[in-house]
Amino acid sequence: MSQSANRLSLYIHIPFCTVRCGYCAFNTYTDLAHLIPDYIDALCRELAFAGEKAGGKRVHTVYFGGGSPSLLSPRQLDEVACQISKHFCVESDAEISLEANPNDLSEPYLRSLRRVGFNRLSIGMQSANAAILKMFDRQHDMAAVAAAVRFARRAGFDNVNLDVIFGSPGETLANWKETVQAALGLSPEHFSVYGLELKGGTRLRQQVDAGEQPRPDDDVFADMYEFASAALAEAGYDQYEISNWRLPGKECRHNLQYWRNLDYMGFGAGAHGFYEGCRYSTIASPQRYIAALRNGGADRAQSSLTPAVGKASRVTEADDLYETIMMGMRLTEEGVNRGRFRQRFGRDLVDMFPAATRKLMAAGLINVTMERVCPSEAGRLLSNLVIREYVAGIRE
Ligand code: SF4
Repeated sequence: MSQSANRLSLYIHIPFCTVRCGYCAFNTYTDLAHLIPDYIDALCRELAFAGEKAGGKRVHTVYFGGGSPSLLSPRQLDEVACQISKHFCVESDAEISLEANPNDLSEPYLRSLRRVGFNRLSIGMQSANAAILKMFDRQHDMAAVAAAVRFARRAGFDNVNLDVIFGSPGETLANWKETVQAALGLSPEHFSVYGLELKGGTRLRQQVDAGEQPRPDDDVFADMYEFASAALAEAGYDQYEISNWRLPGKECRHNLQYWRNLDYMGFGAGAHGFYEGCRYSTIASPQRYIAALRNGGADRAQSSLTPAVGKASRVTEADDLYETIMMGMRLTEEGVNRGRFRQRFGRDLVDMFPAATRKLMAAGLINVTMERVCPSEAGRLLSNLVIREYVAGIRE
């Protein structure tokens, strides 16, 4: 069993941005920056509270996501990081990541982040194309991304991820190739490559539905994904998840915790957690989150991990099976580890779902070895189909 099965990951949500991007459906706010000091205070209270209940567990990853964590000053980030160290056993080589917008990054700022303890940076590049960045309402250009990576190197970061998005309205394969080449030119250690999702409530979705922007074409979408897969492989990056590539040893350990369906605690407004068989989320509104932490939420706090609990439920075995298989099938190399699966559910995955496994093997969508069941190359593009077969097995 992987050591990470016994260890904990922490996610810290920072729900503030300067501008809402056209495709963004995250829990973030553009008019609440004045709340940041109170929010940090609330986060520190929440960490102290959870630390009392789970502080004995070793923490091997901490991820500051958002929103825009890079809007916080080094002092504010340090306050939160110190609170984590005070209330949890953070391993000395823990992965400590920060999501950042390129325009927020300067060399002095990044040097300060290194002193706070951050050792991984995830930069939202999204595209190299000026028109696409404008359509997204991103505030940076490609020069700012290049400068951010340069500053990161000078500050001592040797683990940098670039997030890029393909399949935006009107984007051509030639546009996308330029983005991939520009990103490769910056030699990050890690790439997250996402197909644009037109989520309900976003400006871009409204524009596409209203015919003001062209609807992305599924065939071009697939061509873009295949181009990125080939270009990244040729440049020496290994794919290890449907949307993620890395240089050796530079996989995102925090996200692996999610994909392996292992425990993590979420802090901050609208954060999600999965801890000892309970899935929960916190209150989404920053104002209400701050208020809940201020008054201690004594009544609700007795049985929960946070005084700011929004929803919480015990995970049934069927839910757990679903999550374990769905997340595991995202892992292109590792898949669902059969040993870990047996330890978790008392039975082997293949014995539990013989019909689904046979059918998917015959269709060439999964590879089965003694150690694992993972999606084949064809299965990566049809992961929904793979998951659906197993879900049907769970429901029988
Ligand atoms: S920076 Fe990120 S979280 Fe903020 S609006 Fe844009 S996509 Fe959403």
